[in-house]
Amino acid sequence: MSKLQLEVVTPDKKVVSAEVDYVSCPGIEGEFGVMPQHVSMLSGLKIGALRYDSDGKHQFVFISGGFADVNNGTMSVLAESAELAEDIDAARAQAAKARAEKRLAERGEKLDVVRAEAALQRAMVRLNLVAQAR
Ligand code: ATP
Repeated sequence: MSKLQLEVVTPDKKVVSAEVDYVSCPGIEGEFGVMPQHVSMLSGLKIGALRYDSDGKHQFVFISGGFADVNNGTMSVLAESAELAEDIDAARAQAAKARAEKRLAERGEKLDVVRAEAALQRAMVRLNLVAQAR
């Protein structure tokens, strides 16, 4: 059976380079699935979890937005930041969550609400992935 070549990169690292059977991805307009024979497409991504399946095994990857380009048997994901679920530092995500919650609760004059909410969301998705991986 043919495979899909999945590449997940960020501006500073390559997170995944693998031949896979299926990818489920957090698109800005909702989750979408990609199989090896998928037609060409380009989609924006939101903060969420990408899952890829290979030989019956699931792997989860944190994605903080970016783009996915599916073309000719290859899916390239360019994310602002990304980590394999097992590489997530739970204590760091917990600290980021507490910082964002404090900022949002205090509602300081100069608070960038969109930024604080995005930071909170990144931390919550990371913590969910850590909990799921246990
Ligand atoms: P923090 O405030 O802890 O930096 P953040 O959500 O602002 O969190 P990002 O901007 O998404 O962090 O990522 C910056 C870099 O740090 C990226 O390389 C990302 O993979 C890594 N990173 C961030 N949080 C974690 C974490 N909890 N575990 C592992 N790597 C992380």
